[in-house]
Amino acid sequence: MQKTDKGFTLFYRDSQKLDKLIYLLTEERGLFIAVAKGAKKGKNRFGGSLEPLNEIEMNLYEKENSEFPILEKVNLIENNTPIFDTIDNYNYLMAIIEIIIKLTPQRIRQDKMLRLLKAVIKTLKENKQQVKKLFNYFLVWFLRIEGYLPEFDTCYKCGKKYESFNKFYLSSDGSKILCGKCKTKNSIEIPLSINNFLKVSKSMPPINFISVKFDNEKKIMNFLLKIVNINGEININSLKQLS
Ligand SMILES: [Zn+2]
Repeated sequence: MQKTDKGFTLFYRDSQKLDKLIYLLTEERGLFIAVAKGAKKGKNRFGGSLEPLNEIEMNLYEKENSEFPILEKVNLIENNTPIFDTIDNYNYLMAIIEIIIKLTPQRIRQDKMLRLLKAVIKTLKENKQQVKKLFNYFLVWFLRIEGYLPEFDTCYKCGKKYESFNKFYLSSDGSKILCGKCKTKNSIEIPLSINNFLKVSKSMPPINFISVKFDNEKKIMNFLLKIVNINGEININSLKQLS
């Protein structure tokens, strides 16, 4: 059966013979893998349209008993390859792609994440030097959308109210917060300024967010990445390259 869909290419890897497997994030299917037949050939009908983070329209052919749908026809809506043009941008964007692929459940609609990715890419296109800021924005929203961000509310054990001037901790499984008295050995310190960061990121589109200054931005990023690592039980390879 043939179906149309619309969304973003994320990543591809070589499959057998002349094919490529393409990771896609689309309106109808969310995250999934499709086969692009013949895409490994030097000259092929897909051209550059399958490069990471391009926005495309596609026809998909689903055969019974086959593992992946076949990518029949691709129309490039928005060529986003220019946003990869510095080493910093490349590394942060690859980290975004890896996080989506490794932590998002497959074949479930991801309307919010699709909107997030679209907004981040659009903003980055016009503000290429803001990649770190936009990476942080992506991270906090990704964790929120996928349900990985705990409530920064009260200590899970004693009920003490979380105030950003007190040191609080994240439980080692990443799901709850604890006060200084209730923390355990493996608890992770929460950066003091995170409350403001959470509030501001929630209230603003990325285009406004990039001009807000925060204390401890690097610490906040590392903290959010810890939550990613705890939940994915993975190491995001592309993160090793981040500056
Ligand atoms: Zn407590």
